[in-house]
Amino acid sequence: MNPVIVVGAGPVGLSAALGLRAHGLPVTLLEADPQGRERPGSRALFIHRETLRLLEGMRPGLAAQITSYGRTWQTKRTLYRGREVYSRTFPPPSFPPPFTSLRQVDTERFLLAACEAAGVEFAWDARVTGIEATDAGAVLSSEDGRDWTGTHVIAADGARSAVRRELGIPMEGTSSEGFHVVVDVADIPGAELPLERVFHYEHPGVGGRSVMRVPFTGGFQVDLQCRDDDPQESYGTEEAVREWLPAVVGEGYAERILWVSTYRFLRKVAATFTDPEHRVLLVGEAAHLFPPFGARGMNSGIADAAAATTAVATGTAAAVAEFAEARRTAALFNSAAAGEALDQLRPRRRIVRAKQRAAAALAPVLPWCGAWLEHAPYGPRHGSPASAGRKY
Ligand SMILES: Cc1cc2nc3c(=O)[nH]c(=O)nc-3n(C[C@H](O)[C@H](O)[C@H](O)COP(=O)(O)OP(=O)(O)OC[C@H]3O[C@@H](n4cnc5c(N)ncnc54)[C@H](O)[C@@H]3O)c2cc1C
Repeated sequence: MNPVIVVGAGPVGLSAALGLRAHGLPVTLLEADPQGRERPGSRALFIHRETLRLLEGMRPGLAAQITSYGRTWQTKRTLYRGREVYSRTFPPPSFPPPFTSLRQVDTERFLLAACEAAGVEFAWDARVTGIEATDAGAVLSSEDGRDWTGTHVIAADGARSAVRRELGIPMEGTSSEGFHVVVDVADIPGAELPLERVFHYEHPGVGGRSVMRVPFTGGFQVDLQCRDDDPQESYGTEEAVREWLPAVVGEGYAERILWVSTYRFLRKVAATFTDPEHRVLLVGEAAHLFPPFGARGMNSGIADAAAATTAVATGTAAAVAEFAEARRTAALFNSAAAGEALDQLRPRRRIVRAKQRAAAALAPVLPWCGAWLEHAPYGPRHGSPASAGRKY
């Protein structure tokens, strides 16, 4: 029996491979990079409870493994120009917790080990360059001249997906002006910062730019929202970060920077998530790109992977068409939700800034104003009925 081919060993491709094994299907996973590669940066930190449940369904015990390594903070705080406008401490979570936070490299380490234990066959150094899909299956070719035949292909080959390109499927959407800076910083052993997520509107230490700090196992990520006309070299290089970081997290961290990167905001969704023969299923960043706020990228990618594996296990063209429709609807919802979050994070309209300022002024007497400021930067949480009631 031909296997199902998964392209890409990022978090989404690894989840798809695990899901297929949970359905008892043979899987070959093709990855362009060599075995044992090092992936940079932390990228996706935040794994939601719904995602943990999906992973647990694919490999019992995996959610416990990930959450026992990750961090779940109980306190969330929001500040406005240096003054606290919201703070809430939640009781200790039961299992599975509402979320866990760990670097994407660590999540991928757990997923890779689970795939190996589940019998996924890997082909490393296999950069896919061609695909031919028929109503009987699909043949993939790699740049070194090898071929693979599968009943279906789950394409999880990321933002520059070669599979999507070869199928001629365009990405539709927008990219915003400006950039944000993402910095991973290692804890100072014995002097760890409090285990809490802090969002700071118009931080006075960085000229009124907004900043978020999110803990992960072993350190924390700082995200600085730059203005459209900020020069990258003033905020986005390691040297620049050493200059502004102490104003945000205190002294002593400049030597503990693990990774600095700058990102632009893209909101793009593939025109379709499948081919005309319904043999190829696009998932994760091969199918959609969202700004990171709201943690929609990896979480929705793993939801795509779970839905794709169910469709492939069902084995009919109708099931694949249904997957493509449902997950594209969810992606459009996520894209719109990320747009709403961006409006709050990078207010372009004076009215949005004025609303934030008014909410901050009223927060001490009207707690819902503080709660609104706390939730606004992440966008709406719940999916449309068409996304099967799922958040992502
Ligand atoms: C700063 C930042 C913070 C983020 N925070 C969050 C967060 O908190 N929560 C969240 O859910 N998401 C977050 N995201 C998004 C998240 O990182 C991505 O959504 C996620 O990495 C996408 O996973 P993927 O498996 O689809 O793609 P990728 O991780 O890009 O993996 C694609 C894989 O395919 C391989 N590949 C590429 N081309 C080929 C080819 N031709 N042939 C074979 N293999 C190929 C690549 O080598 C790679 O291994 C964040 C992103 C950024 C940048």
